[in-house]
Amino acid sequence: DELISQIAAGEVVERPASVVRELVDNALDAGATQVTLRLLAGGVRLISVEDDGQGILRDELPIAFKRHATSKIGNLQDLESVATMGFRGEALAAINSIADCAILSRASGLNDAYLLDGRTGELRPVARGQGTTVEVKELFYSTPARRKFLKTDATELAHCIESVRRHALARPDVGFAIWHEGKLVEQWRRCLDTPLAEATSEAALAALDQRLSDVLGPEFLAQSVRVDWHSKQANEFGQPALRVWGRAGVPDAARSRADQQFCYVNGRFVRDKVLTHAARSAYEDVLHGNRQPVYALYVAMDPTRVDVNVHPTKIEVRFRDSREVHQAVRHAVEDTLAAPRA
Ligand code: ADP
Ligand code: MG
Repeated sequence: DELISQIAAGEVVERPASVVRELVDNALDAGATQVTLRLLAGGVRLISVEDDGQGILRDELPIAFKRHATSKIGNLQDLESVATMGFRGEALAAINSIADCAILSRASGLNDAYLLDGRTGELRPVARGQGTTVEVKELFYSTPARRKFLKTDATELAHCIESVRRHALARPDVGFAIWHEGKLVEQWRRCLDTPLAEATSEAALAALDQRLSDVLGPEFLAQSVRVDWHSKQANEFGQPALRVWGRAGVPDAARSRADQQFCYVNGRFVRDKVLTHAARSAYEDVLHGNRQPVYALYVAMDPTRVDVNVHPTKIEVRFRDSREVHQAVRHAVEDTLAAPRA
């Protein structure tokens, strides 16, 4: 079983940033409003993710490290419409097989907190507030070959920050802080009370603008305008079947950067050819030279029309009707770029 977990770890964990992604996913699934990341040596020596979410009951702590232990989906039908970031129940087991792990947690409504040592399985009482901290030390200690592929601490840190940035851009209702070697390196304050599920209110759009500015810099806001598009077809609830919102723009030549393109599907950061191609084609007539577009696009659609269980890292998706999604994103961005700037 240890071997199987290590093989699974090979698919899920490439570097410290992969661990960060999984742990932050879990914190968000637990309903956290504040997530604090602490790193040593670019995450190789320590990754600690602390949240104020619902916590884990004492008796359920040992299950968290078990393979295919997920509390998030109960049946195949749930898999058709996954609402949480995680659902495979293999991340913690995989990470525990390649690092020294511990979970500290206090479940909501309870007064006692416990620490579970992932190596020994020992469980003991500790003191802490509501929520969970997962600590991952000495990543790849047992697989020196993998450890050798890691880059400098500065590079690994940059990847860890990028991983949190991707989460942060979708969750202005959650505060994030990143510490490295005892120094605060990034902090994005919570600026909305409720999740940004459907960004329909002005308050939600304003909070998203605030978060985009905090994370990507005020230039991103200055260079872009709001995207707010929905399809004419309605779903079974009478709502538009597809919505695309966010911001898109064209930067000055001097400020053009290749890393200011973000796509989300139902709140999940994805890297997807259909989406990037659609955005690209909307820019065809407006971009000249080697200027790069800037955008953060959020697609909301019926979860049964998109499969997120394609790849262990869940960064790829498969659309049931990719033409429909392509057209939606293309139109959304084209309309935005064609509109006079406010
Ligand atoms: P998955 O997220 O796919 O369910 P994981 O291996 O990431 O699987 O986590 C296993 C289980 O541990 C989760 O289903 C959840 O019940 C619990 N868990 C992990 N991290 C947290 C957390 N930060 N807060 C509350 N529960 C957690
Ligand atoms: Mg998970």
